[in-house]
Amino acid sequence: MIVTRFAPSPTGLLHLGHAYSALAAHEAASKAGGRFLLRIEDIDPGRCKPEFSLALMEDLRWLGLTWEEPVRFQSQHMADYTAALGRLQAMGLVYPCFCTRSEIQALAAPQENDVEGPVYPGACRHLAETARAALAADRPCVWRLDMARACAQAGDLVWHDARRGEVRADPARFGDVVLARKDVPTSYHLSVVVDDAQQGVSLVTRGEDLFAATDVHRLLQALLSLPTPRYRHHTLMRDASGRRYAKRDKALTLRALRQAGKTPQDVRSMVGFDPLPGRSGTPPTTSVA
Ligand code: GLU
Repeated sequence: MIVTRFAPSPTGLLHLGHAYSALAAHEAASKAGGRFLLRIEDIDPGRCKPEFSLALMEDLRWLGLTWEEPVRFQSQHMADYTAALGRLQAMGLVYPCFCTRSEIQALAAPQENDVEGPVYPGACRHLAETARAALAADRPCVWRLDMARACAQAGDLVWHDARRGEVRADPARFGDVVLARKDVPTSYHLSVVVDDAQQGVSLVTRGEDLFAATDVHRLLQALLSLPTPRYRHHTLMRDASGRRYAKRDKALTLRALRQAGKTPQDVRSMVGFDPLPGRSGTPPTTSVA
């Protein structure tokens, strides 16, 4: 049975691009008689707000989507991520890194591939225990994956994308990615892998901006002995000038469209989806906060 999910981060209001992604995942589940889950990726306390979580659920319901309860909030599952990190620590595949952002920027070589941001140059990778202890006394640390060791341990890996077929994973180009941050004991990569496994997700539906990151996820699945879902990375919706929709496009949030009188049917057809079966297209009666 297909189990898929929509996993937004509550850092703003949902826009048309999110509507497309949520509808695509929902449709993949409903066409196959599968299950559709909602996961709120709210590990970042500085950027995620409970009011955006509430708003996004209301907007999705307005759009006509339903999902299985309970919704998984990542902020409530830190112990799961800590346990996964602990396994990698016990395997000797992660290390604490005390470098500041500016130290990394200064040392990192420019990137010539599809990886965003600087690749960590490795200063803390081989610190002696005494040096680590001295730094830990007055500097916070992140935990990084020792990518070379991890790749050597995992061997060749592949994963499957619905549009592109079999993909050979090349996580090494990401370098020693952060698995636990200074402010939160996890990272996007670690929590998404743990959650997809814990929720029994068999099909990850998400935008192709995350296509490259799947190589890292595949590696973490191998290291943590977790099952590998299948993936469907969909193209991203763009505006008339070819720009990706983003949270800054306030006029194209579902909230703004709804306040401007658009119906759920209008929004569904704006992103290329058929009307909901059995729905007339009349505006919802619920009031907008
Ligand atoms: N939380 C991510 C986002 O809002 C999506 C993560 C995923 O689908 O794996 O972009």
